[in-house]
Amino acid sequence: MRLIDTHTHLYQPKFDGDRAEAIARCLEAGVDTLLLPNIDAESIPRVRSMMAEWPAMCRGMMGLHPCHVAADSLETELGAIEAELRARPDEYVAVGEIGVDLYWDKSTLGLQQEAFRRQVAWAKAFDLPVVIHVREAFPELFALLDEVNDDALRGVVHCFTGTLADAERIVEYGDFYLGIGGVATYKNGGLEPTLRGVRRDRVVLETDSPYLAPVPFRGKRNESAYVAHVAQQVADWWEVPVAEVAEVTTANAERLFRLKTK
Ligand SMILES: [Zn+2]
Repeated sequence: MRLIDTHTHLYQPKFDGDRAEAIARCLEAGVDTLLLPNIDAESIPRVRSMMAEWPAMCRGMMGLHPCHVAADSLETELGAIEAELRARPDEYVAVGEIGVDLYWDKSTLGLQQEAFRRQVAWAKAFDLPVVIHVREAFPELFALLDEVNDDALRGVVHCFTGTLADAERIVEYGDFYLGIGGVATYKNGGLEPTLRGVRRDRVVLETDSPYLAPVPFRGKRNESAYVAHVAQQVADWWEVPVAEVAEVTTANAERLFRLKTK
């Protein structure tokens, strides 16, 4: 069984004490590829250092997270991230994470939209998928996607927690996927109808580590090895062996992020 964690922040300081052990636990669990979403200019060296230390396993993304936009720093943040992407476009598998988050701060919506549009343009220019974070902002995200979507755009809505109708609208944008994480294992997560109903060729797995640990680790630090627990939950809903979920979702991730050719 081979699993890919398509969204993990294992580079964050929470893992400074045991990162190599966390990587070893991934390999024991069959997780052989980790995709690392960038957050802001400051996190770039951390993402790059994991790419350098575990080159066969760790693939980076470059982007500015919607919770890290501010009026006085938007240009410097986007400038640093764009410069990094332009310097080494072939080393990155996606532009991310980008998106809209109205849970933490509604006042920055205009800045989030501006950052989103500019980063989508990079993704199209470099032929990379976008990795999208959305929290309490589906109407705003759909408005943005209606505006920017075309045949050149592909991507994933990560940590997807929406309804089956939201999921179907996302996959109808074209080459779009849903990132399913630990919330799937929560009793109140609400994802069962979505996972039972949505196209299986559009589902990828993730942890969003260190956040949102799956049951039985809920509330603790999340780590990429736990993506196996998400796979098991999806297997229960799809009524197939977990190995089949691994096969399907790994192939989906390889296709979206073009992991075999990059
Ligand atoms: Zn994230």
